[in-house]
Amino acid sequence: MPLKDIFCQEKAVASLEQAYDSGKVAHAYIFAGPDGVGKFTTAKEFAKLLLCKNPVKRGNFTDSCGTCESCRAFEAGSHPDFEHVYKELIEFTEDGKDKDPPIDFPIDVVREFVIEKVSQRPALSTRRVFVLTETEKLNDNSQNCLLKVLEEPPSYCCIILVCTRPDKLLPTIRSRCQILRFGPIAEDKIIEKLHQPGLSEKQAKFLARFADGCLGLACTYSQLELAEANLYQTKTDLVDALADFEYKDALELAENLQKKSKELAAIWTKLAPATSKTDINRKATKTVLQIIICALHDAMLTNIAVRDAIVNFDQPEQIKKIAKRFDAEQAAQKIADCFKTLHWLESSVNERLIFEQLLLNLAETDKITYIL
Ligand SMILES: [Zn+2]
Repeated sequence: MPLKDIFCQEKAVASLEQAYDSGKVAHAYIFAGPDGVGKFTTAKEFAKLLLCKNPVKRGNFTDSCGTCESCRAFEAGSHPDFEHVYKELIEFTEDGKDKDPPIDFPIDVVREFVIEKVSQRPALSTRRVFVLTETEKLNDNSQNCLLKVLEEPPSYCCIILVCTRPDKLLPTIRSRCQILRFGPIAEDKIIEKLHQPGLSEKQAKFLARFADGCLGLACTYSQLELAEANLYQTKTDLVDALADFEYKDALELAENLQKKSKELAAIWTKLAPATSKTDINRKATKTVLQIIICALHDAMLTNIAVRDAIVNFDQPEQIKKIAKRFDAEQAAQKIADCFKTLHWLESSVNERLIFEQLLLNLAETDKITYIL
């Protein structure tokens, strides 16, 4: 896919094309934005252009040719001057054999796949490009290690940090990189992409809204749905349950949600076997929690009379019931509590406890409201 075909990120792409055409490509970039909006695809295509031996004019800008020796090696995944560096590479490091896939981005990966390789001169092209993904997970040691190369990058080198949370990067890292922002993608564009057999219009619309402008995430959800993860059914049942939720239901619902989350993780693992199991479990739990957050958010919007943007557009009666229970302010507070509980996930708190705490908390306000 040439750079010009990157989906809905015209601004970021134009800025890269301009830098290339004016000979002002930075030595280091941060591609910042939510998951699944095309940061990694853009990074790869830009790398391909930087490495291409015979760039061509397409419209106003230059793009990779797609046919030269470099482009062919790139497409085959065997370009000697391109490195995709990600945390799971730990198993290919010197001491990493048999290590579980890590949660943090480990320093050994940065050392062996960036620091040690950056000094090798390009073998096929005139540049070397390093694309690091999930850099929001670089811990302080890894970031300090990376800083060494960002302070004095070799002239032929371009390092791209793909990042969902640039605030997690040290200011010293951020100040040495050019930050390029990738925004969310419009709902109708995502629905268009999701349009495929096996997925109803309702499901596609829900998944697009649930993914909140992240095309990649929406595609993952739709893959899960097609692999019979029953995400749509789970959300329908959960929103039903929340509409008539009572204190006595909290523990049973928590148990049920934990089960759903495990089932989701099992299917997700099949779709992404290279990803760390802990990561997948967290993603699955987060997805289920996100359904609750969306329902509360919808209730909040309903209370302030914004109805056309709700995620659960197909369950308006249930959302109205939830909106009756929590006014806008209470719903906002509950959402904040949910996000606090979400942070427990990062601290490896037991999933069951997370669901129980969250649902008991949801039920509690109810109780207090009744007493009042
Ligand atoms: Zn080429």
